[in-house]
Amino acid sequence: MLKFVEAGAEALTGRRPLEGRTAIVTGSTSGIGLGIARAFVEAGAAVMLNGFGDAVEIESLRAALADENDVDVAYDNADMSDRAAIHMMVERAAMRFGQVDIVVSNAGIQHVAPIGEFPPAKWDSILSINLSAAFHLIQATFDGMRGRGYGRIINVASAHGLVASPFKAAYVAAKHGMVGLTKVVALEGAEFGITSNAICPGYVWTPLVEKQIDDQAKSHNIARDAVIRDVFLKNQPTKRFATTEELGTLAVFLCTDAAASITGTALPVDGGWTAH
Ligand code: NAD
Repeated sequence: MLKFVEAGAEALTGRRPLEGRTAIVTGSTSGIGLGIARAFVEAGAAVMLNGFGDAVEIESLRAALADENDVDVAYDNADMSDRAAIHMMVERAAMRFGQVDIVVSNAGIQHVAPIGEFPPAKWDSILSINLSAAFHLIQATFDGMRGRGYGRIINVASAHGLVASPFKAAYVAAKHGMVGLTKVVALEGAEFGITSNAICPGYVWTPLVEKQIDDQAKSHNIARDAVIRDVFLKNQPTKRFATTEELGTLAVFLCTDAAASITGTALPVDGGWTAH
């Protein structure tokens, strides 16, 4: 699909849809963030990757994305629970690329436990990484976007930004907060060419979900297949995981001029889950 969108845009203009744009994608060493970063570089944007992982693997990923797509790709290891590190990452991106046009707050963690047993330290770190980091990243880039009359803010929330599930108090609270933040930023950016949208995936098969499958299988004492069918895809009417490619394609579209009037939304990519 992305190839189709790119091919259409290239045929009309001779340019890839995000050529000349620059982006930071947090938590892009894995899963959804990597899918979005890959879609951005394929669309011609320069991208700063971020996230944790093996330094050698990250460097080879960075180099491959740059070489295969003939764009500048950088990496910053900022910890999203550290406000100062987020601001330094933005400064490094601005120095390297000249400016930051697009920010995607995607880094996120999860912890599943009943309220009475929910560790307060987990509450604090989930709120910090899954919600406050998005505010800090937006605050560090918003004025530059406003001055240039173009900005794209994408917050990777979740279906859990729209509906709740038990045992996910911090995650659901943070993701609902992210949807609220998205709307405020949309209103403040509207007159300045800045759009702000939340993408709300249902279940996407990534390392974050992979870990939960094993945890759930252990705690329910059921097989992995049963966890996937009866727990994860129970509420997802398509009965399949959404893909990182689908999310990357949507993120690219939101950054094009065609999406200039789409702002303040929470877009479900959940196979119909939140239509229930
Ligand atoms: P993932 O575990 O594959 O990737 C998470 C990324 O965040 C990694 O790159 C990791 O290094 C990075 N990260 C974690 N903590 C960080 C920190 N403190 N600082 C910087 N980077 C950090 O997870 P994923 O499934 O790709 O999830 C990405 C986002 O999508 C999360 O916000 C998650 O809540 C959201 N989401 C995922 C699903 C799903 O089914 N996978 C569904 C809805 C929403």
